[in-house]
Amino acid sequence: MSKLLFEDYQPLAAIATTPTAAKRLLPLTQAIGATLWVPESLGGGQDAHPTTRVYTGSLKEHLSNIWQENRGFIFCLATGAVVRLIAPLLEDKSRDPAVVVIDEAGKFAIALCSGHQGGADKLANAIALQLNATPVITGASAGLGLPAVDILGVPFGWHKGDGDWTKVAAAISKGEPVQVIQEVGSTLWQSHLPKGHPFDFGFPEYSATTKEESISPKARIWISFTQRQFAPESDLPKVQWHPRVLWVGIGCERGTSKKLMATAIEEVFRVNHLALGAIAGIATIDIKADEVGLVEICQEKKWPLRTFPPEVLRSVTVPNPSAVVEAEVGTPSVAEAAALCAAENDNLLISKHIFCFDSEGKPIQNPKSKIQNRMGAVTIAIAVAEKEYTDRSGKLFLIGTGPGQLNQMTPAAQTAVNQADVVIGYSLYIDLISPLLRLGQIVEALPITQEVQRAKRAIELANWGLTVAVVSSGDCGIYGMAGLVLEELQAQGWDGKIPGVQVFPGITALQSAASRVGAPLMHDFCAISLSDLLTPWEVIEPRLRAAAMADFVTALYNPKSKTRTEQIAIAQAIFLQYRDPNTPVALVRDAYRQDEQITLTKLDKMLEECIDMLTTVIIGNSNTRTHAEWMITPRGYKISEVISQ
Ligand code: SAH
Repeated sequence: MSKLLFEDYQPLAAIATTPTAAKRLLPLTQAIGATLWVPESLGGGQDAHPTTRVYTGSLKEHLSNIWQENRGFIFCLATGAVVRLIAPLLEDKSRDPAVVVIDEAGKFAIALCSGHQGGADKLANAIALQLNATPVITGASAGLGLPAVDILGVPFGWHKGDGDWTKVAAAISKGEPVQVIQEVGSTLWQSHLPKGHPFDFGFPEYSATTKEESISPKARIWISFTQRQFAPESDLPKVQWHPRVLWVGIGCERGTSKKLMATAIEEVFRVNHLALGAIAGIATIDIKADEVGLVEICQEKKWPLRTFPPEVLRSVTVPNPSAVVEAEVGTPSVAEAAALCAAENDNLLISKHIFCFDSEGKPIQNPKSKIQNRMGAVTIAIAVAEKEYTDRSGKLFLIGTGPGQLNQMTPAAQTAVNQADVVIGYSLYIDLISPLLRLGQIVEALPITQEVQRAKRAIELANWGLTVAVVSSGDCGIYGMAGLVLEELQAQGWDGKIPGVQVFPGITALQSAASRVGAPLMHDFCAISLSDLLTPWEVIEPRLRAAAMADFVTALYNPKSKTRTEQIAIAQAIFLQYRDPNTPVALVRDAYRQDEQITLTKLDKMLEECIDMLTTVIIGNSNTRTHAEWMITPRGYKISEVISQ
């Protein structure tokens, strides 16, 4: 159902051993696309759901069979039992699947194991939102409101490098000062840290002038493409993250093997102290797109292979052009030019190295020397991209947050906000949903007028590989951001698939306003926005006339602003031409928010009341009536005639 929402956790297995547990898990597993496993004793009955699968033998045995193939497990079972069951299967927190436990009453979702790298903390949050349960997250950084150091770079596709991850995490959890030296990669994660966080982004050893400034760090995080060797027993524990910014340009002789290419790359990286984890991908000339060794090494290492035609490569200025290469392939440079093209700048880090291999596959020191039976030759150059390669396919969640109160927002929409890497929206709406935000999430609250910029920013981040939640109040597809984002995607030539888009509906203002006064929308109705910012008044006015004439109950959005005051008076005049002056009108301001105001009035008196941009105006049809503080539009005209007789 929620296709994109739980995609990152698939395949997911859920396990129940009692009928109550199975009942609890069944709707959840259907909503999130997990397989529900039950023992034979529960599965055989006629009531069994077709998506439920039955295991035979012991659960312990079954688990060991499906442990490797699932990315996450959801147990509805006593925590102690789960601990005993999974204990023999656990290997390493960087590889173990996420394990979440739910109690039979569905009150808690416990992130039991692989909270950070396995994603159990995030999954427990998502499940808790689906079940309206409390997530139980016990990691130390969670208590401090900090993103965990071992998943800091995950949204940006960074690779974890060497270091003492346990000691650095311990320093952070003790609140000790931690120095961060970030040389490359996105700094977005820095701008959304809680106040009083322990990170120091300066270089104290160079810049400290006063005693206060030179508080010595207790740990250090390097974010760079350099491969650093840390002394094992150092007093200052260190870790390194490697954003994938290095594009390796390769030229090679036909038939050079994958092994020789790997040797050449490793050698250049070793000599220059570069981290292999910082490799974004491989770049070359398009005639090498089918070069077996290249294709194989890219598959094995999960590197993208970017190829460029000779016309493009020859337009790049390089330090070491070659007339021989030009005569052969139509461009004076392959490795250097391709690396620069892939990195999309002129920042060449390592200019070309040529490797030749003798018949035993050993590098030949002097590549120009003539050697019989050589096994291949590789040319390597490296360029640094401004922006790291994330290796993720981005997603856009277009979300309606409803009128304001959290409990008026769908669980799916709540989950989508919580799971996104980035949340973008108007600051007021983001404040209203702030309890849903997650540690380490990037939140970009922009002023109300910048809708188009917001849409463009969201698409830019999604194209780069992030999961971006764009929030609108009410429904995002009704005078909201969904249209703007989809229009902009179309304008950019979107293929409809990447980035993936999912729209999460919300309760729109006409529904929330109506619910506060009874049932005014009961019969045919329409919505008309009086804002002529994006729609000319010549379009709006005939619609008002048509709605008035056709006896639609009419909800007016954006009825009046500080500068735009005439439209509501024109609308009233038009409706008065077709409807009784006593027609009931509801003015609902800030529905489901702190300053909610509800006014029931009549068509000819409505302008005497406060109407502004936070108000929705509902004009009844010819049959709408009021009763005490309620506004009622009969379900059908016929019935109302019968009643009134
Ligand atoms: N996407 C929103 C509409 C945005 S247009 C939705 O589906 O509700 C903005 C207009 O919506 C406001 O001018 C007002 O007319 C109406 N509106 C939004 N939230 C409201 C609320 N809580 N109470 C009353 N009207 C509201």
